[in-house]
Amino acid sequence: MQRGHVRALVVADIHANLEALRAVLEDAERRGGFDAIWCLGDTVGYGPDPVPCLDLLRQYNLVAVAGNHDHAAIGKRTIEDFNYAAAEAARWTAQQLTPEASAFLDSLPSVATAEPFTLVHGTLRDPISEYLLNQDAARSTLELLRTRYCLVGHSHLPFLCLEQGPASGGQFVEFPEDRPFELGEQRCIINPGCVGQPRDRDPRPSYAIYDSHPSGTGSMAIARHRVAYNIGETQEKMRLAGLPQVLIDRLEHGW
Ligand code: ZN
Repeated sequence: MQRGHVRALVVADIHANLEALRAVLEDAERRGGFDAIWCLGDTVGYGPDPVPCLDLLRQYNLVAVAGNHDHAAIGKRTIEDFNYAAAEAARWTAQQLTPEASAFLDSLPSVATAEPFTLVHGTLRDPISEYLLNQDAARSTLELLRTRYCLVGHSHLPFLCLEQGPASGGQFVEFPEDRPFELGEQRCIINPGCVGQPRDRDPRPSYAIYDSHPSGTGSMAIARHRVAYNIGETQEKMRLAGLPQVLIDRLEHGW
């Protein structure tokens, strides 16, 4: 790769799903590889492999931020507002964490910069807990944004939100699959979709690859992809761990 050329794998909401994470890593390698992973939080919670997922990610050149489930697992945030299944999974996750894994989660910032992107789990005004799903949240994040683009997770829904002009918020549009989105002057907020527990009625993990110098074109681009994995294997691990049935079932529905 030429000097200054960056290819980053962008992942969000891995949720301790090791099979989904491995499938994404392998798929991204097949598509030309990457030299960094940018992780948008909720690496743990819900799924059966919190420590293996953290260990695997940390083998890479990693920029990561914290999500609400990461904070819940280490007691940095209350689980009072979690539903029964999420709270149950958070308690189970807390018991699995090694001191090293806890320390790593505790060290994660709530906002990180990887030029020309800002990385955050929720929104810039409430990085850990707020969903970026409406005009108001988009406007406030664009106001606070000091880089040209922002990457978010948390909702488990892929989208592009394009700035329409100062103070006018953003327009939510589909983030198409397998079709690179050219990054230009227009500022935008991007959700790559979810690795470990998709909620857009497609159970396949969703992720993105940012390329600062795609071959054949002059401009930066980000492309979203999906890849299948062995859902049954993850579900079986969850059963053995005694995790809530509703969390096991939803993996195959993608909802
Ligand atoms: Zn999440």
